[in-house]
Amino acid sequence: MRIEAHSVTRIFGSTRAVDAVSFVIDRPMMVGVIGSSGAGKSTLLRIFNRLTDPSEGSLRVDGRDVLRLRGAERRSWQADCAMIFQQFNLVPRLDVVSNVLHGLLNKRSLATSLLNLWPKSDIERAVQILDRLGIAEQAAKRAEALSGGQQQRVAIARALMQDPRVILADEPIASLDPMNAQIVMDTLRRIHDEDGRTVIANLHTLDTARHYCDRIIGMRKGRVVFDGTPEQLTTGV
Ligand code: ADP
Ligand code: ADP
Repeated sequence: MRIEAHSVTRIFGSTRAVDAVSFVIDRPMMVGVIGSSGAGKSTLLRIFNRLTDPSEGSLRVDGRDVLRLRGAERRSWQADCAMIFQQFNLVPRLDVVSNVLHGLLNKRSLATSLLNLWPKSDIERAVQILDRLGIAEQAAKRAEALSGGQQQRVAIARALMQDPRVILADEPIASLDPMNAQIVMDTLRRIHDEDGRTVIANLHTLDTARHYCDRIIGMRKGRVVFDGTPEQLTTGV
């Protein structure tokens, strides 16, 4: 998979939230996007996932500009770059397995979800993924009964249901205590190492990015001000 962002820009009023951002990701890797609040990290991921449209620029994935896709093709791309969020975005009162099954909402009918008529094979897969992430024992509990770290792993499981080639994580550990933050980052790293998925994570601490990522993209005022390995960042090259 080759991802090529070219001059991606998003303007809100007089703010250039994302300003001519370009990069190439030519193999599966774990990328940390760092920068202070307001730097444009979140907007960049939201453009990537088509939650927001860019003002200008292209994002070519294996040659095709995914920012121009419409309808079913756009939804299919959104499943291929599943997103996880700082606040997990689970349905709090719903049980964990059903939350994970929601990853399939754009592939199954609405009735399947409303009437809880998920095929047995979907349910088995959801439980398998929960098991892989070490939270199968929580499967029948309401999402709100879990710790933050467990909830974020449920969100990762929901993302994995879509079998995405890319996982976009918007401040995945910003709401977690250090121990849970480590568990969630270890989980993302494992998903990259074992499955070969690309992970792009917005992180606000440099140490986390250095420790877990193969590549760091630094943003400031919408622009890329650093793009390289953690080693290059340390030596200032
Ligand atoms: P970060 O994720 O690095 O904190 P954001 O992408 O959230 O940065 O925000 C970048 C800039 O764009 C900020 O100045 C923010 O206020 C602005 N911004 C983001 N979303 C909107 C929006 N929907 N409307 C107006 N301004 C926005
Ligand atoms: P984050 O915690 O990811 O930086 P924010 O709290 O900045 O997110 O933004 C949450 C939502 O509000 C997003 O949908 C973003 O697009 C929108 N937003 C952010 N800044 C502004 C702004 N200045 N004006 C309008 N909407 C904004």
